[in-house]
Amino acid sequence: MPDGLTEIRPAPLIDAFGRTVTYLRLSVTDRCDLRCTYCMAEHMTFLPKKDLLSLEELERVAAAFIRRGVTKIRITGGEPLVRKDSGQLFDRLGSYLGDGLHELTLTTNATLLERDATRLYEAGVRRVNISLDTLDPDMFREITRRGDFDRVIRGIDAADAAGLKIKINTVGLKHQNAAEIPHMVEWAHGRGFDMTLIEVMPLGDTGEDRIDQYVPLFDIRDRLDQIWTLEEEPGRDTSAGPSRYVRIRETGGRLGFITPLTNNFCAGCNRVRVTCTGRIYMCLGQDDHIDLRAALREAADPDAALDACLDRALLAKPERHDFAIKDREEPPALPRHMSVTGG
Ligand code: SAM
Repeated sequence: MPDGLTEIRPAPLIDAFGRTVTYLRLSVTDRCDLRCTYCMAEHMTFLPKKDLLSLEELERVAAAFIRRGVTKIRITGGEPLVRKDSGQLFDRLGSYLGDGLHELTLTTNATLLERDATRLYEAGVRRVNISLDTLDPDMFREITRRGDFDRVIRGIDAADAAGLKIKINTVGLKHQNAAEIPHMVEWAHGRGFDMTLIEVMPLGDTGEDRIDQYVPLFDIRDRLDQIWTLEEEPGRDTSAGPSRYVRIRETGGRLGFITPLTNNFCAGCNRVRVTCTGRIYMCLGQDDHIDLRAALREAADPDAALDACLDRALLAKPERHDFAIKDREEPPALPRHMSVTGG
C-alpha cells in the first residue's frame, strides 16, 4: 500500500445489541443418513439438489463472512459428510486458515469419519464435534432409527487416530439415555474427549412428543453431583459458545451443559447460521432469515450484494430466543427441523 494511505477494512459484524459475530455455522446439506427421533421425522422430504448452494457459492459466502471478521466456521448439515463434494469444500476453506480464518471445524454423526478423518485433518481441521446419544447399540438404533453403532465407533477411532480433538455432543433424552449419562461421561473422559450435554429443543415435527423426550439438564447434573465432584470452570468459554463447563475432579475431563430451555445464554451470542440453500438465520430459536442466494445468483456484483445481506442480517439479529416445552402435543415452537440449520 502506498505511504500515507490507510487500509480500509470491511466493517466487523456488530449487531444492534453490541454483540460481534465471529462464528459462522454453514450447513452444506439438509440430508442425513440417520433419522434421530428428536431431530427428524422418519420420512423426510429433502430439498432438490438444484436448490443447494454449489461448492463455489459456499466458498463465496464463507469468504464474505471471513472478510467481515468471522474467524471460526463450523460445517454442519444434515450430515455434512454425506455431501459428495464436502472433501473439496474442506480443502478450499482450509486455504483461508491463517488468512482471516482461525478455525475450520465440523459437527458430524461420525458414520463417515472412518473414510474422511485423515482428509479433514489434512485440510486443516483440528477439532470435531461428534453427536452420540448412547453407547448401547440397540438404543443407538432406536434413537437414530437406522444407525450402525460399530461404524460410528470406528469413525470416532479414526478421528482420534488422525489427530482430531474430539468433543462428544449428547442430547439428554428422558426415557432413552438420561440414566446412561454417567456411563457416557466416564467413557468420553476415559478416552480423553470433552463432552457436552444438550437440552432437546422444540424444533420441527418429528412424529414424537417433545414432552416424552425432554429432561432438564439440572436433573442430570444433580445426579452427576451425587457421583462426582463437579468444579465450575470460571466464566463462559467464549470459544465454546453457549456451553457452561465443569471439570469433573475424578475423571479429569470437561463436561459442558447447553441449556436453551432452562438457562438462556443469548447475551454472549457470537454466531449466525447459513443454510445449504443460502438463508441466513440470525437465531436458532427464531424464524427470521435473509436470503443470500438471490444475491449470489442474480446480483451484478455478488460480493457487494452479499455484504449488504450481512448488514441487513446483523440489524435483524434478535436479542434472544424463548424456547419452552410445557404441554403435551404442543405444536413445535418452530416448524423448521434442526437439520435445516445444523444446530
Ligand atoms: N449430522 C450432524 C451431527 O449429527 O452432528 C450435524 C447436524 S445435527 C442437526 C447437529 C446437532 O443437533 C446434533 O448434535 C444433534 O444431536 C442436535 N439436534 C438435532 N435436533 C435437536 C433438537 N431438537 N434439540 C437439540 N439438539 C438437536
